[in-house]
Amino acid sequence: MNSRKRPTFYIKTVGCKVNQYEEALIKRQLTEAGFSGVRAGERADIYIVNSCTVTHKADRDVRRIVRGFYRQNPHGRIVVTGCYAESDEDRKTLAGIPGVGLLVRNAEKISIADILSGEFSVIKDNEKYCHSLHHDRDRSFIKIQDGCDNRCSYCKVPLVRGLSRSRGFDEIMAEIREFIGEGSREIVLAGICLGAWGRDLSPRQSIADLLRHLAGIEGDFRIRLSSIEPHYVTQCLIDLMASSPKICRHLHIPLQSGDDNILRLMNRPYTTDDFKKMIGRSRKAIPGIAFTTDVIVGFPGEDAASFARTCAFVKELAPSRIHVFSYSRRQGTAAASFKKAATAGDVKERQKQLTSLGRELALKFAEGLRGKKEMVLVESRPETGTGALSGYTDTYVKVFFKAPRSAIHHIVPVVITEIDRSRIAGVC
Ligand code: SF4
Repeated sequence: MNSRKRPTFYIKTVGCKVNQYEEALIKRQLTEAGFSGVRAGERADIYIVNSCTVTHKADRDVRRIVRGFYRQNPHGRIVVTGCYAESDEDRKTLAGIPGVGLLVRNAEKISIADILSGEFSVIKDNEKYCHSLHHDRDRSFIKIQDGCDNRCSYCKVPLVRGLSRSRGFDEIMAEIREFIGEGSREIVLAGICLGAWGRDLSPRQSIADLLRHLAGIEGDFRIRLSSIEPHYVTQCLIDLMASSPKICRHLHIPLQSGDDNILRLMNRPYTTDDFKKMIGRSRKAIPGIAFTTDVIVGFPGEDAASFARTCAFVKELAPSRIHVFSYSRRQGTAAASFKKAATAGDVKERQKQLTSLGRELALKFAEGLRGKKEMVLVESRPETGTGALSGYTDTYVKVFFKAPRSAIHHIVPVVITEIDRSRIAGVC
């Protein structure tokens, strides 16, 4: 079959690693159904926006992307799926944007290829699914869990994703073995509430059980957890990470606030003391571990004093990277009725301050790597201009270095030699 005649599609994903995994799945299904993917910026017959609704900014981004696709091809079929296409109110907003032809809820995402196959004339052929479409060969995202049983007062996710559900152990192992067999060097486990994996399975299992089995698979690859809530970082998980060189020494653990009163208002199930102890235990057991985090600024009730406590706490914890979010009021959440304490100007200023603290702490972490040998997964594209190769350490620091192209797609030792604000370099 001439692939030029295949109807073309382009998918744009906004949001978390779970959405990225689901994008991969939709791409795979569409390709196998006879559609052909195009690159960013190319005109397509079908545009799919895999949306997120975690903040107002995410909603706005989705609407902007839809409008861009409509401008690119007013006759294209625009499909919006994901968390922003869940609630009746949001669906009404989306349906009113010119060009939006189809809204698909999360639960029906896996039927998109079937729906579109019925609308377009596609001829299934034996063309093999091209892996580069659904994950680069270096890194594969695997969704192992969906939904969340927590009720953080600011979060809309449980309202649109539902209660926690785990994928079965055998299914996950089979998919991961397949990716490793195809040459994947890094497996990133993703979930909406990853740490809850296995709790709903019978018999009940834990994320540490799954990791133990994954770490036992032969091959040149490593495993990374995308993000884990603090109360799921158990001693068992820490001990396993400490004893398995295959598991990246990196944990992304959302803190959200460094003030106990705000944490309580957020309905987060831990105190700053719990958090500090958990980080302390991890650092003691896993030398060199990097911990990255998320912090929300401007949550209702956060005044200047509570923000100052957050800054002091973050400084004390010294994460190697911070994602700072401005609080976004989400309809249907408990916090939607809380009274705001900060003006928009305050929130902007807090975001600036914390972001700048984050940069300082990132630099401090990188300084600690100077002279050390780090294992780097070499990515495929050399840097334009210098031809330098680059990749991430297991502690999630991007490093540039000169090496033969044969190093691409391998995990290689790199000694860190140069560190400045914009670039970390090493010798391979
Ligand atoms: S843990 Fe809290 S913030 Fe994360 S998805 Fe669940 S409710 Fe939302």
